[in-house]
Amino acid sequence: MQQPVKPAEEKVPDSSAMAAARDAAIAALDLMVRHDIPPIPENFAVWFAYATGGVGNLRRTIDVLLTSGRGIDEGQVAELFERFILPGYRAQAVEDIAENLDDVTDGLARSLDKAGAGASSFGRVLSTATSALASAGGGEEIRTLIDTLRQETESARNSNEALRAELANTTGEIAALRQKLEETRAEAMTDGLTGIANRKRFDVVLRETAGAAMETGTTMTLLMLDIDHFKQFNDTHGHIVGDQVLRLVGRTLTECVRESDIPARFGGEEFAVVLPETELEDARVMAERIRKRLNQKRVTRRTSGEDIGVVTISIGAARYEYGEPMAALVARADLALYRAKQKGRNRVMIQGE
Ligand code: GH3
Ligand code: MG
Ligand code: MG
Repeated sequence: MQQPVKPAEEKVPDSSAMAAARDAAIAALDLMVRHDIPPIPENFAVWFAYATGGVGNLRRTIDVLLTSGRGIDEGQVAELFERFILPGYRAQAVEDIAENLDDVTDGLARSLDKAGAGASSFGRVLSTATSALASAGGGEEIRTLIDTLRQETESARNSNEALRAELANTTGEIAALRQKLEETRAEAMTDGLTGIANRKRFDVVLRETAGAAMETGTTMTLLMLDIDHFKQFNDTHGHIVGDQVLRLVGRTLTECVRESDIPARFGGEEFAVVLPETELEDARVMAERIRKRLNQKRVTRRTSGEDIGVVTISIGAARYEYGEPMAALVARADLALYRAKQKGRNRVMIQGE
């Protein structure tokens, strides 16, 4: 979309990013009007993400809905919000809380150390004074003074000990709370259905692994996997069995990969595996192992024990080029996956094949 050029003096720093955001916002509103979606913030978040390129498969999902001719309604947009936008918000909130808590704990630990040091040095001063007075010997007044000092020492120590105990207690409580937050954080990074890494964790892992590969001069490859004819499978056997298949694929990935490899649910019925320090040909071996292992498993309906058959998967592999955007790597693996589908599914294709 061609935008009128602003006069130079109106420009603010980072004006191109602002202009892009403004264009996306206008496009989002426009799309909402066009598809008769109420302009509430949640819906706007979905369409804004769509207009900026999307979160995960959001854009692709919406495009599929739009090109299917069925259109898109308010309920579907709400679902998209739940699936694509909300997890990001939740994970961010958890991170914010954890960070604040870290500050509080650090502050408390410092107070505790200070109180401890204060009590010890006070104790040392008083005991020096006590022994000095004792060795000086002497009369009633001095003995009274010593007694008073002893009592003061005792009560000062007691109150400092109480303070230490209280602080230690609080720190313990905070540590427990932090552990809980860590668990929540891990949960926010885990796919609820399959128990493997979710899309958010995948994004983090892919970035980190790529960074490490560049730093150490090693190779990283990425597998993108997509269940074959899953829509038909769902339509024939229902979503419950469909979900069972997703869990089966998640399990199969976990069984086949090495400890350093990270399998993840990329979205819907698509999976990914990040393979650090792996050449393309080794990635092919790994992908073949996954494909064959899945072929060996039969799906049975839980409730009736009915044998439903086997599920197959198509896999694309791509090798990370130092410095390229993660989206480019994912797109290359996706293209190989697409070629695997074209070639008849249930197969592995490497980039460029
Ligand atoms: P292809 O072999 O070309 O991959 O065909 P496909 O049917 O697998 O691909 P398509 O993208 O057309 O359909 C994907 C289907 O996956 C749509 C939907 O029915 C199903 N699906 C996506 N996410 C989930 C999910 O979380 N649970 C269940 N049960 N089904 C899902
Ligand atoms: Mg798919
Ligand atoms: Mg599929």
